[in-house]
Amino acid sequence: MAIVDNIGTALSGSGGSVILTSVDKLVDWSRGQSLWAFPMGTACCAMELIAASFNKFDFDRLGTFPRPDPRHTDVMILAGTITEKMKPAVKLLYDQMPEPKWVVAMGNCTVSGGIFYYDTYSVVRGADTFLPIDVYIAGCPPRPESLQDGIIQLRELVREESIAPGKRHERKTLLPRKGEGAGDAL
Ligand code: SF4
Repeated sequence: MAIVDNIGTALSGSGGSVILTSVDKLVDWSRGQSLWAFPMGTACCAMELIAASFNKFDFDRLGTFPRPDPRHTDVMILAGTITEKMKPAVKLLYDQMPEPKWVVAMGNCTVSGGIFYYDTYSVVRGADTFLPIDVYIAGCPPRPESLQDGIIQLRELVREESIAPGKRHERKTLLPRKGEGAGDAL
């Protein structure tokens, strides 16, 4: 991977016109550099997600472009409280994303149900009860810088993967709710 990372240096050095790498590393490097995002804002954390895309924070410089159609995206950014009523819609949109795909949980509500879970029957106790989450970002709400840091960490995870079947990084297992298997969470 270091060869790929230092591609410019390798080309500019004396006699450095040959680069050795593998298709696997090149594909993973390319994927990590261009993670198109599906912004799934469900509550107040979405304001910070929106702010991250504007010129002050300039999300685009990380190669992360928000797209409105899940079929065109690589990573779902879940930001906000998820209610039991919303859950099937969120899962449906996730299912519409093509493989390979990743999910970032942004904010305490998405990570664990946040301040609402213990006070109400209607809030989901964390998105990982029904979706495989790759990166967790704590905060109420997290700052745009935290989201950008989360995307940088996701890039590292993607780069460590392989295009070979079964060689993706280990995801967190789905957390079953009391009395349920993970597959029954929906
Ligand atoms: S974590 Fe805080 S800011 Fe984010 S959706 Fe929950 S209550 Fe709102």
